[in-house]
Amino acid sequence: MSKLIQRLISLGVDLSTKKALKSALRILGLKPDNIDKLYMELKNDIHKDEFRNIHPNEKIIFLPQCLRNSKKCRAKLGKFGYECVDCGNCKVSMIKKEAEALGYRVFVVPGGSMVYKIMKEFRPKAVVGVACIKELAMALDEVRIPTQTVELARDGCLDTDVDADEVIHVLKNGAKTT
Ligand code: SF4
Repeated sequence: MSKLIQRLISLGVDLSTKKALKSALRILGLKPDNIDKLYMELKNDIHKDEFRNIHPNEKIIFLPQCLRNSKKCRAKLGKFGYECVDCGNCKVSMIKKEAEALGYRVFVVPGGSMVYKIMKEFRPKAVVGVACIKELAMALDEVRIPTQTVELARDGCLDTDVDADEVIHVLKNGAKTT
């Protein structure tokens, strides 16, 4: 996928939205297997340098509430999402500790509307998003600041999973594009 990403970027076509990407692919006669994934990786690549140059104090990471342990989680839903109490029964706690140590604000969100509410309230300069690929592709069409995203390793409505090492790598360095 990275060769295709480099080719698309080098052609200088409008890749700002999924619709624009689809048009570019149609003109070039290309049919990638997963356009949402291509769109996500493209945005990660385009935004990576800008993202790295913004201090973590000005960044937010959004984690999906479905990462919580549905049977054991003790987090309560507050004004800005679920308030993790670090019980250690899911990866939220580990990622949150790493992110906060770096300077990020961390939010565990129940959905897209909460993301936009938090963005309006805290006005970050860049964001990291963890979600299923469909949610990420939708959010990337709306968010106008540098983003880095990580797709869930196992999606669904409950007890999802993510590669925590990958998320922590993104927090520190931006997403890998290979
Ligand atoms: S670590 Fe946090 S989010 Fe995960 S189950 Fe415990 S309280 Fe809930």
